[in-house]
Amino acid sequence: MKKLLALALCLLLCLPMGVSAQEGEVEIYTAQDLLAIGENPSASYILMNDIDMAGISWPCPEFSGKLNGNGHAILNLTITNPGDAVEKVYDGNRKGYDAQFAGLFSTMKNARVENLSLVNLRSTITADTPFFLGAVAGAAWESEIENCTVSATLELRAHDRIFGVGGVVGYGSGLVKGCNVDVTLICTDTGKDTLDEQFLGGVLANGFMDVRSCNVRLDAYASEYGYAHTGGIVGMYFQWPFDHEHYGRILYNTVEGKITFFECNSDRRAYCKAVIGEPVADLWGEDHNKTENFRRDERKEYDKELRPHMCENGAFTQQEVAASCEGFGYSQLTCACGYSYRDNYTLKAHSYGPWQVIAEPTAQAPGKSQAVCALCGAQTARQDPYIPPETAPETTPETTPETTPQATAPAPEQQDPGSSGGIDWVLVALIALVVIAALAVIYFVRENRRAKRRRKRRRPGTR
Ligand SMILES: [Zn+2]
Ligand SMILES: [Zn+2]
Repeated sequence: MKKLLALALCLLLCLPMGVSAQEGEVEIYTAQDLLAIGENPSASYILMNDIDMAGISWPCPEFSGKLNGNGHAILNLTITNPGDAVEKVYDGNRKGYDAQFAGLFSTMKNARVENLSLVNLRSTITADTPFFLGAVAGAAWESEIENCTVSATLELRAHDRIFGVGGVVGYGSGLVKGCNVDVTLICTDTGKDTLDEQFLGGVLANGFMDVRSCNVRLDAYASEYGYAHTGGIVGMYFQWPFDHEHYGRILYNTVEGKITFFECNSDRRAYCKAVIGEPVADLWGEDHNKTENFRRDERKEYDKELRPHMCENGAFTQQEVAASCEGFGYSQLTCACGYSYRDNYTLKAHSYGPWQVIAEPTAQAPGKSQAVCALCGAQTARQDPYIPPETAPETTPETTPETTPQATAPAPEQQDPGSSGGIDWVLVALIALVVIAALAVIYFVRENRRAKRRRKRRRPGTR
């Protein structure tokens, strides 16, 4: 009986502790939670899981709060339309234009995004207005993006006066620090008869953000019949807002890859450099950036749009790479010409045990359950809705059926982590445990009695 008690105690102590969110942070568990950011854009959010956004239409909300990715990833976010925001952006002559924006957030204002991975973000936008596209934000006002990873393919087709694509932010001010950026950028001027301005940068297309300690890999394509401003970090480093006295700095970054572009224009400027395409600022500096693996690839043929893949009719073969505990799954698509890319990412494949309740739901707040991967110890979490007392089964932190000492009782049905809903299995497991404990007690008591009887019978013979 002591052994049984010790085992039960050990199992209770071995229950994993949850990833705690700070006071006031809104926890994001699902795609629906992520979509709800737009309803309360000034709140603080924390991601509790990796989230696959494949097949979900993304509205590009405006954002003025804080988003902590908590080391988690958002997969397959697909953006085909701008957000609702219309804001002024400026060209190098300080002329303003009403523009539209797209990105995880259309606009960020005094906002912060940290510790977030964007995996396989894809955006293709066709615009008839001034437009800026960036993976994290179309435009940012005094906002910070720190310790994030961005892998994205961003394509903008536009023609109206001013437009651009940035690997992290389209247009803006603030700070991008400690980010890993791996992006394919395509910006195409679809109006051959107007002298518009195009901006393209591995981190920022146009604006005045400090960019520090970022690793940027880019494969960029700009086709332009007006003026192109392209750079491995920033397309045009433009002092903005005009009245501030901030000293802009681009320091300690690594840039590798290439920008392939043409500028079809009799007044050709062809700005393209490894760090800053064109600086338009008084107070700025760039230093300690590693750029030896960057290539400026200017073309002088103007009849064909520049793209990463130029085959008219690509013949692709598809190879599936399975997800594991360590890595996301994906499809590797390879054309007969040799061009290859990855798409259709899948969440990491863990072997989660059953859900453990770590916080009971109440009428005031949802509860929380957690499951742990048997192979690597990774955790996943979900919220449990409150169920009124008449129908609510008692729920307590529970042990897994496989780890109970006897396997004689039928194993209770397990719920697959990731699916939502009931906590019936907790009740079943609880009953099973009680039954097992009762059987064990009865067994031990009987054994005890038998042993006593045997000893009594033996005693006379031994004397
Ligand atoms: Zn091909
Ligand atoms: Zn695992």
